[in-house]
Amino acid sequence: MTTCFIGLGSNLGDRKKNIAHAVEHLKQDPKITITKVSSAIETDAIGGPPQPKFFNAVIKIDTSYSARRLLEILQSIERKLGRQSPHQKNHPRTIDLDILLYGNLTIAENDLEIPHPRMWERKFVTVPLKEIAPEFFDKELG
Ligand code: ADP
Ligand code: MG
Repeated sequence: MTTCFIGLGSNLGDRKKNIAHAVEHLKQDPKITITKVSSAIETDAIGGPPQPKFFNAVIKIDTSYSARRLLEILQSIERKLGRQSPHQKNHPRTIDLDILLYGNLTIAENDLEIPHPRMWERKFVTVPLKEIAPEFFDKELG
């Protein structure tokens, strides 16, 4: 089992419901146990064309999936929830599911980067992450 953090975002449709549905899908997966769920916070979209605000949240999970398999699982949930352009960065989306951290693993490949690049600079990640994993932020100060 590996402990991971997943970032969730939505800026189309019923944004909070989309996040709740994605959490439900993950909950139903026998190889994933959700251990923490942050509040959803409303945030301005960063980059891309002008677009609606997001709701963002972060969850903590334990999983027996490999990082690459977990990415596939997340992408299949994105498709199920009606995401239209899975490969266009910074575009409006019904749901975006990103692997932020996968245990201590570092991967730097074209289609999979872990830790997620720039996650520590993005308030829409750090605010919900701090709510469920304050230990990361204590360490930075200490
Ligand atoms: P973003 O989340 O940066 O706005 P997308 O969700 O459109 O962008 O993702 C585009 C691609 O990012 C995906 O096809 C996926 O292969 C790649 N990717 C790279 N690293 C990760 C990661 N840690 N989690 C999720 N997707 C990732
Ligand atoms: Mg993404």
